[in-house]
Amino acid sequence: MRAGFPDFRLGNVLATSFTATLTERRGNAVERIPTPHRLVDWLAVNGLAVDSCTTAQLDLARELRESIHLAATAAAIQDALPASAVQVINDRSAQGRAAAILTPEGKRQWRLSSASCVEDALSVIAADAISIVAGERDGKLALCASPTCQAAFFDTSQSRTRKWCDMNTCGNRQKKARFNANQHKKPRSAE
Ligand SMILES: [Zn+2]
Repeated sequence: MRAGFPDFRLGNVLATSFTATLTERRGNAVERIPTPHRLVDWLAVNGLAVDSCTTAQLDLARELRESIHLAATAAAIQDALPASAVQVINDRSAQGRAAAILTPEGKRQWRLSSASCVEDALSVIAADAISIVAGERDGKLALCASPTCQAAFFDTSQSRTRKWCDMNTCGNRQKKARFNANQHKKPRSAE
């Protein structure tokens, strides 16, 4: 981890972990991949290590991220998918040449065509987004109940009633806000 940059919000789903590199979209947004180096860091944490990234590749990544955000949001509220977002996701998916590799331990790894090929990594993320928006995986897209967040997340809970994109951040913040509101309501005896 590099000092001085916002940390990553990592979940179990690659595509929504990626959209969570921009948080609080409806509040004071926090950009968690502000530089090409931070995208390199994020990809490494997510099993898609590359050795370099240009600012043009970072732009491609952010364009894909916001397209996934738009498509996943539309899918969560059962709205029509925005055509431009679908186009970007499909372009990124088609442009990469990543191969799924089975390790001797029975794990899946991604092999990129070259170590500088951020596009390959983005194609894996785009394909992951396609699988959740298309409803191929066990779970349901939903929007975070925090008004300053409203991130699309993939709910894999049994009851499909998860409210927050991340219990440790948005869930906790809501709990604290409720607690503070209750404190204010108490009559002040000193007055
Ligand atoms: Zn949230």
